Amino acid sequence: MSVRRSRFVDPFQPAEVRRLVRQFGSPLLILDCERVRVQYRKLRAALGRVDLHYALKPMPHAAVVQTVLAEGGFLDLATTGEVQLVRRLGVDPARCIHTHPIKRPQDIRNALEFGVRTFVADNPDEVRKFEQFSDRAELLLRVSFRSPGAVCDLSRKFGCDPEDVLELARLAAELGITVRGLSFHVGSQAGDSAKHVEALDACAQLMAAGRRRKLGVLDTLDIGGGFPIDYTQPVQDIERFCEPLRSALEALPKRVRVIAEPGRFIVGPAALGVASVMGRARREGHWWYYLDDGLYGSYSGQLFDHARYPVEPLKDSEERLPSVLAGPTCDSIDVIAENLMLPKLEAGDLIVGRAMGAYTWASATEFNFFPKATVVAVNLTPGDSGMVMPFPL
Ligand SMILES: *Cc1c(COP(=O)(O)O)cnc(C)c1O
Repeated sequence: MSVRRSRFVDPFQPAEVRRLVRQFGSPLLILDCERVRVQYRKLRAALGRVDLHYALKPMPHAAVVQTVLAEGGFLDLATTGEVQLVRRLGVDPARCIHTHPIKRPQDIRNALEFGVRTFVADNPDEVRKFEQFSDRAELLLRVSFRSPGAVCDLSRKFGCDPEDVLELARLAAELGITVRGLSFHVGSQAGDSAKHVEALDACAQLMAAGRRRKLGVLDTLDIGGGFPIDYTQPVQDIERFCEPLRSALEALPKRVRVIAEPGRFIVGPAALGVASVMGRARREGHWWYYLDDGLYGSYSGQLFDHARYPVEPLKDSEERLPSVLAGPTCDSIDVIAENLMLPKLEAGDLIVGRAMGAYTWASATEFNFFPKATVVAVNLTPGDSGMVMPFPL
């Protein structure tokens, strides 16, 4: 063990960051698979009996997929593009579910052809799309529990009202479609687990009622994602967050398989964004530093995901001056952070952003022809820093 451990190099250490930028250029997203493993294991331990299906959406990268699978995990796909990615990687479809509540028939066919069996529906029209596939597909019905407390409330756009679930299950039964269970997603970056617990209890009751009325197998409960991570604002640690959930899970019948669809928690802390100063100007008493990554790039999560990443220069000095970090595009909204106290920087100096694995690169654009950051995955094999791979797709 100690021999393998000695090969592990923390890729977020300044010397290593500089080395990777020399090798792969800037902007860079350093994706540390060792941190993916740590996050996966932490959530597994905190949730107990729950199988984790990593949701690809926040960081659809081969290295994350392979790391999660090597840990014994599962995957949550939502689009034909994600199906194609895992298919190229030779993933066993039995480890995948498809959870987009609204799909074109071709999306369903693509997933079925790959070998996925479990899908999600939340309304009668969507359930009817599965009538012709009833021999090959089974459904989780997505239930909506509004969550104004979450940073991103996902139950506004998707999910059926709890009082309509059994009616939907009855429709599926009439059409000969197997209802495997229920699912929910209370929202991303939840402040605490109260909403998860409420939804879990309500679903447990609905599933029991559905089983009594023979409306489906109803032996699977999918508790979604939403598990929070630290950004500039710290959150409850995951043990504490999951504690109330664990007690609620223990009350479920043993034959119910519980799964979750974590995205952010698995990959958020596992990537470091690295940008370079392209140039600087002094404006109204502030130093403005123009970076090669910004709001249209990896920092797009500040707009779409409402996240604030902790940013800091890689070099340090005693003297600090009022500073602004701006992105590279010609748009005036492209400003990452203002009112920072930073050392005086020069062209070529590096700025790192922490917790940049989720909803960053995934939602980046190439506006103004500034290319997206190169993703470099490191520590692909446990305890081995020897392998480094730029984004392979
Ligand atoms: C986005 C999404 C997830 C992942 O949510 P996180 O809050 O990042 O854990 C899981 N399931 C579904 C259906 C999603 O849309």
